[in-house]
Amino acid sequence: MKKLALHWKILIGMFLGLAFGFGMMFVSGGKEFVVDWINPLGTIFVKLLKLIAIPLILASLIKGISDLKDISKFRDIGLRTIGIYVFTTVIAITIGLLLVNVLQPGNGVSDETIAKLTETYASDSGVQSKIAEATRQKESGPLQFLVDMVPDNAIKAMGENKSMLQVIFFTILFGISMLLIGEKSAAPLKNFFDSLNDVVLKMVDLIMLTAPVAVFALLANVVVSSGDPDLLLALLKYAGVVVLGLVLMIVFYVIVVSSYTKKNPFWFLKEISPAQLLAFSTSSSAATLPVTMERVEEHIGVDKEVSSFVLPVGATINMDGTSLYQGVAAVFIAQALGHDLTLGSQLTIVLTALLASIGSAAVPGAGMVMLVIVLEAIGFPADKLAIGLALIFAVDRPLDMCRTVVNVTGDATVSMMVAKSVGKLGKPKVKDWDDHYEEVK
Ligand code: ASP
Repeated sequence: MKKLALHWKILIGMFLGLAFGFGMMFVSGGKEFVVDWINPLGTIFVKLLKLIAIPLILASLIKGISDLKDISKFRDIGLRTIGIYVFTTVIAITIGLLLVNVLQPGNGVSDETIAKLTETYASDSGVQSKIAEATRQKESGPLQFLVDMVPDNAIKAMGENKSMLQVIFFTILFGISMLLIGEKSAAPLKNFFDSLNDVVLKMVDLIMLTAPVAVFALLANVVVSSGDPDLLLALLKYAGVVVLGLVLMIVFYVIVVSSYTKKNPFWFLKEISPAQLLAFSTSSSAATLPVTMERVEEHIGVDKEVSSFVLPVGATINMDGTSLYQGVAAVFIAQALGHDLTLGSQLTIVLTALLASIGSAAVPGAGMVMLVIVLEAIGFPADKLAIGLALIFAVDRPLDMCRTVVNVTGDATVSMMVAKSVGKLGKPKVKDWDDHYEEVK
């Protein structure tokens, strides 16, 4: 029998997880059962993915830079990457703002719904912690993000998944220095990191064998942890506008892939789909990163020299889905609470959402922290912030899942564009977990 493709297995796991979660809502003690006995499987999977993120960035970026053999090529790739990331993010925010202004989802929300949402969520610890985190981030100076990017202890940076940009910084410096000591002296290190890179990618293959079960657990848990269905329904129009925007963003990527890279966009979507499905299930582009890298390199054919830089940087600074959501959410909250927005305020949203998406961590719910900063930038009264966030909190998790798919797809698309522009988009070279199994079993 032909083996079922991975994305089908994951999809089946997701549907069964959703169905199981719904079923357990009607069983007494079902919710607790899912939380205590099913959810840990998902948590273990996410931890496994995060476990290999730092070694993967280290090995693959060093391999990528040392394979380039030329520092100017690296500079070229770097500049193009940042330029295209800014470009796609501005497109995303513009799509979000256009939709929310035309469809006006905030104007139909009744006072009663606002009161109910405020009562349920305004003092919720989730909402309050997002506001506190945003205040903490805002207090730092404008160049703090650059200061934060430079580690003062390489080992400590590698011990902390949050310090991904610091690890990237150290690794680039390391890789460039390896080029500068000459091929002969660098050979032992190069061999070591090449081999480490192969090992870590094999670990991704092994971990992915458990993905169908893990997504089952993750989605069952999302269902049993979701809020009051009435409140979810009240926010349907708002959620619909965000989802419509995200779909349009995927259409934009499809157009770019077919017109610029001249590849079949449906093939692209199929090959990248396991990463998208994991992004949806985990709500974290950082956790998905190892899978995104594996898919883009082995199944799409982007050279490591490009993907090893573009994808880890993209996971932390390029969040098209998140910035689109921030644009829609900010205007929706303003509409619902009767806060007038001028054209100037809308332009401020473009700028702050752009900076916010660069500053957002690639973890679940991070987009909402930055939304607070966007709201403050357009002069939204501080005392109403909690009410504003309460309005959208009920649907944040499902929207987070959807926007993370777009974040990951955006990174993959940009890596193809950069690869194409520097002649590094080649043929796929698929490796399976059991390629050498016969020799060692
Ligand atoms: N969860 C998103 C990500 O990891 C960030 C966000 O929008 O909250 O990409």
